[in-house]
Amino acid sequence: MKLKFWGCRGSIPVPDARMIEYGGNTTCLEVMINGRVIIIDSGTGIRKLGEELIQRGSKDIDMFITHSHWDHIQGFPFFKPIYSDDFNINIFGCKNSYKELKDILSHQMSFEYFPVRFSELSSNINFEDGCENYYNKYGYKIDIIETNHPITTIAFKIENKSHSLVFMTDNELKSKNPKTSHKDFVEFCRGTDYLIHDAQFTGEEYKDSHGWGHSTFEQSMDLAAHAGVGNLVFFHHDPNREDDKLTELTEKYKIMSEDRGDSFNIITAKEQRIIEIS
Ligand SMILES: [Zn+2]
Repeated sequence: MKLKFWGCRGSIPVPDARMIEYGGNTTCLEVMINGRVIIIDSGTGIRKLGEELIQRGSKDIDMFITHSHWDHIQGFPFFKPIYSDDFNINIFGCKNSYKELKDILSHQMSFEYFPVRFSELSSNINFEDGCENYYNKYGYKIDIIETNHPITTIAFKIENKSHSLVFMTDNELKSKNPKTSHKDFVEFCRGTDYLIHDAQFTGEEYKDSHGWGHSTFEQSMDLAAHAGVGNLVFFHHDPNREDDKLTELTEKYKIMSEDRGDSFNIITAKEQRIIEIS
């Protein structure tokens, strides 16, 4: 299993010289399993991924969407493969809103916002149903859990024969009105090789951000510790977080984690970073 980050920023793209190292594009992760291309979310990072897929000649794509907030879908109209009849794209949305997701992606391309309409796309796009169940095809399986976010949002666990990854962003672990309990998150993430989790805020920042649907660095570390994961990846960086500050915070939390006796590694997601899980 191999991962590549194409967008790690939360909320809004930030084309800013002070944010080049970690990148300014919004959420998009590529997961490669047995030559199959899996994409999670179509934030602005998907634009460059589309160009690379055309060069690579990868024609079959499975796309999983956590939810429809702007920073997770806004790159979709700029994903070149949707304009080519060479491509077969399965899009997997969340329970009870699979049709809504299709409507939302179509609406995003309505005339008020974009010059080309969804109905004019040349690729073969198929919306996958069956959100409550495992998606189990092509040598991998995906399980889902609802996160704590203002709208229905799902996290994914991707597994093949020997490795596993949990992608859990836009999740407020300390939500006052949780849709999913901490205990259930721990069970879902238990023993996974990599947990990619929302770490938008510091503890201080979170005091003014309750109910926004995001977590702190420390809260994501607590989940990683309770679930016994191998690696924790901080994700969904605050749009105002400059590179120097993010590096400084990473070091701070690595030291804190060591002092706590945590057994997992800490990584901060960076655009274009590749991780091989082997
Ligand atoms: Zn987001």
